[in-house]
Amino acid sequence: MSESVLYDVAVVGGGPAGLTAAIFAAKQGAQTILIDSKIDLGQKILLSGGGRCNILPTEVDPTTYVTDSSVHTLRNILRSWPLDEVRAFLESDVKLKLKTDPVSGKLHVTGGGKAARHSLLELAEHAGVKIKRRFQVVRLGGSDPFFLTCPEKRTIRATRVILACGGLSYPQTGSDGLALEILRSREHQIVPPYPALTPLIGARSTHRILSGITMTVTVTARSETEEASCRGGFLFTHRGYSGPAILNTSHVVARARQRREQAQVFVSWTDRTQDEWRTLLTEGKKTIRGALIHEMPDRVADQLLQEISLHEGRVATLEKERRDQLIRLLTNYPLPITRNDGFDSAEVTGGGLHLREIDQKTMQSKRLSNLYICGEMLDAFGPIGGTNFLWAFVTGRRAGEAAGKASVS
Ligand SMILES: Cc1cc2nc3c(=O)[nH]c(=O)nc-3n(C[C@H](O)[C@H](O)[C@H](O)COP(=O)(O)OP(=O)(O)OC[C@H]3O[C@@H](n4cnc5c(N)ncnc54)[C@H](O)[C@@H]3O)c2cc1C
Repeated sequence: MSESVLYDVAVVGGGPAGLTAAIFAAKQGAQTILIDSKIDLGQKILLSGGGRCNILPTEVDPTTYVTDSSVHTLRNILRSWPLDEVRAFLESDVKLKLKTDPVSGKLHVTGGGKAARHSLLELAEHAGVKIKRRFQVVRLGGSDPFFLTCPEKRTIRATRVILACGGLSYPQTGSDGLALEILRSREHQIVPPYPALTPLIGARSTHRILSGITMTVTVTARSETEEASCRGGFLFTHRGYSGPAILNTSHVVARARQRREQAQVFVSWTDRTQDEWRTLLTEGKKTIRGALIHEMPDRVADQLLQEISLHEGRVATLEKERRDQLIRLLTNYPLPITRNDGFDSAEVTGGGLHLREIDQKTMQSKRLSNLYICGEMLDAFGPIGGTNFLWAFVTGRRAGEAAGKASVS
């Protein structure tokens, strides 16, 4: 059965991208409906930042985003809505209170994800957006107008459609990749999706005893075709390794698997260079263990020493070969990993709709007029720290404004 109303704009997906798109479409005067498969829509906003919602980065650096599409296009899109203006929108229009965490320097929402979702929804409703929950779009038919169909065969008609359905990560939140399949079926080029910002699974049980230990390290993930490096927090877990430095480089492991390549992950456990370590492990009367535990947690130091059967003695007594072996372990440690943790625990999805498939000024599909795509469905993601919400807001606004304007002109 079809709804008799013909909407100007139907936004599919009530995450940060879809909510923003709906707000901006309605602001133009377009009769707008926002459709989501869940009753509890926009669940990732609730989960974000461990519930505290790290809503924006403190600066925008397009080079930290990953895409297989044009970096130039990505940069132009990101710069289309300057960070201070996005912040002003969130503070003045959405009426969120933002605060900078004194320890991490991250920008959080007072009241966390709950407040962020509530306020975005409230603004959408205030702008006149009709919210339709529990309507999973399984088919996008027609084009003038579009027909959006759910499994029970009910249909919503709209002149313009904005897809904001997210990727495949955390599928229990509603983003299951179906919308990317819909796009594929309508001849759009999709960069094969892969899990990104995920923990890594360990290959050896020996590191399990270290689980819970955090430290600041430099992680470098390398495959036959790419490399990513990050200095930041590192966490030993029961199953392997996590923390920002791991999450931000884990896509290299995922993509290598996708391409059937080998990937290796190396850790420099401190910020000491090889030369600095050589000096530390040569001069003075300290013991080898003493030199290490001065720079890192003692349990990690003991583990590293155990792995090369080196415990006793003073640094001055180390043979050159043993010293070199230890320095390699301290600055270029090959982390024993098997794989990344998959879409179930990926904060975002890499890959998605190739950016060449859209007009970067409007986010409109170049293949199908009046169809717009925004948010995580697009082939781009950024490191942890608010960059992915920024992408959702910027692309959502562009799509909503363009679709709304076209509807009323
Ligand atoms: C645990 C976790 C923590 C995170 N923390 C942060 C953070 O602190 N800062 C940050 O910047 N980013 C964070 N992210 C990433 C961020 O949440 C995503 O990048 C962002 O939510 C993507 O927005 P989106 O609107 O494109 O998609 P989503 O948020 O995934 O929303 C998609 C919506 O579409 C709906 N939908 C999907 N398919 C259909 C369909 N066929 N029919 C109808 N409805 C459909 C879904 O139900 C969902 O509500 C985090 C992610 C996770 C998983």
